[in-house]
Amino acid sequence: MTKITVAKGDGIGPEIMEATLKVILAAGADLAIEEIEVGEKVYLAGNTSGIAPSSWDTIRQNKVFLKAPITTPQGGGYKSLNVSIRKFLGLYANVRPCNSLHPFVRTKHPVMNIVIVRENEEDLYAGIEHQQTDEVVQCLKLISRPGCEKIVRYAFEYAKQQNRKKVTCFTKDNIMKQTDGLFHRVFNEIAAEYPDIENEHWIIDIGAAKMADTPEEFDVIVMPNLYGDVLSDIAAQLTGSVGLAGSANIGEECAMFEAIHGSAPMIAGQNVANPSGLLQGAIMMLNHIGQSGVAEKVQNAWLKTIEEGIHTPEIYKEGISSKKVGTKEFADAVIENLGKKPALLKPVSYATNYALNLPKYKRRPAADKKLVGVDVFVQWNGSSPDELAEHLQEITDKEIKLTMITNRGIKVWPEGFKETFCTDHWRCRFMAQGDVGMPKAAVIGLLQQALWKNIDTIKTENLYSFDGKAAYSLGQGQ
Ligand code: NAD
Repeated sequence: MTKITVAKGDGIGPEIMEATLKVILAAGADLAIEEIEVGEKVYLAGNTSGIAPSSWDTIRQNKVFLKAPITTPQGGGYKSLNVSIRKFLGLYANVRPCNSLHPFVRTKHPVMNIVIVRENEEDLYAGIEHQQTDEVVQCLKLISRPGCEKIVRYAFEYAKQQNRKKVTCFTKDNIMKQTDGLFHRVFNEIAAEYPDIENEHWIIDIGAAKMADTPEEFDVIVMPNLYGDVLSDIAAQLTGSVGLAGSANIGEECAMFEAIHGSAPMIAGQNVANPSGLLQGAIMMLNHIGQSGVAEKVQNAWLKTIEEGIHTPEIYKEGISSKKVGTKEFADAVIENLGKKPALLKPVSYATNYALNLPKYKRRPAADKKLVGVDVFVQWNGSSPDELAEHLQEITDKEIKLTMITNRGIKVWPEGFKETFCTDHWRCRFMAQGDVGMPKAAVIGLLQQALWKNIDTIKTENLYSFDGKAAYSLGQGQ
């Protein structure tokens, strides 16, 4: 018997969880269920994280968590519980299979069998945001080498285990050369270790367009967090409904299984929600805990039910479906089919062990890191960059020189265009002169001088070279 934690969530959560548990228990899942309360009620009771400390203990003890979708109240500083759970528990890999069920569920893409492997812990989801000036806010996009290595290796190991032929990577590294550039570079490094698996990279915009147009050309797709969030909803919807796809969040110690969709409050309490997404999550959970026989039985019964045309309203189509059913009736139909296999859709046959044996991340030796300059960000309400440059030149000396000012990344000094629209947020780049770099104290010196001259500095970013290579972006137009 495996002990698992269950949360029934908000909106349609309780209905689809009840249906899911009923099906898997009827199929013989050997589970001891410990229920916790998370989500809206907990948020509104004043806990801005949406979860009580004792519930964290339960999740960490049991290590396996089946979670229905929850509602994050808008405003009020409530932090997304989903993001917190994924990050606190180190659930770095989010695996989202999206399969077409043609001809039984209407889709424009009869041949589609994609698995999206989404990085789950970093990127813009670090949630580090600040208002810096009257006019400008920022969100930090953090991408780490361990984050990239872990998720890309997971994608290739998953592809190997599941006999998949190709792993595709989507990034936007033509624009984000440092962050997405690192993800792409690590993808190339790790892909080389798997010569039997085809690999390719697409810039996310054209890649997403191709995925929406010809999903049959894709197999496993790995990508950073935000792109994966967006594209997995699109991929699931392409198969017929977001209500059909499940999601596994896998870490080194713990794992969480859920539907990819949200709590759909508009249809809550009406017995119309499709429980299939959460059921698919539960099937991944059963495979994860070694109850693959039960997982196989449930999946085949589910395929058979879909094939019989017994459909919830959002996928019901006259001429394709045979019977429109509610959440409960759908679950009962799946239970009725336990032990049967689909006739036209391909029945599944699961292996007994789905645990991936992944190496621990090994930190590389530190590079030779040299401070070569500093970007000082300034709030300034003037409009002529030449005037700002004049003020700033008063705070430099012969060792440190102002080399550039940008506004929202575009170079406005020297030789800016008068057409460029400028906000009150300026990045002023100071570079050390000569090859020796600059001492950290020089940054403090600059800030002190700026203070004396009444220049409103917001923040600084140190400019480094690593092993002699400049490791910061140039200004656009520089
Ligand atoms: P949603 O996924 O809840 O709904 C999007 C659309 O899909 C709606 O039209 C909905 O009716 C439909 N839909 C979703 N699941 C369905 C199902 N099982 N059966 C039939 N139709 C289904 O997205 P949303 O409306 O943007 O978000 C609602 C709430 O869910 C928000 O509070 C959001 O924060 C939360 N959310 C939670 C999770 C999670 O817990 N993992 C994920 C995404 C969104």
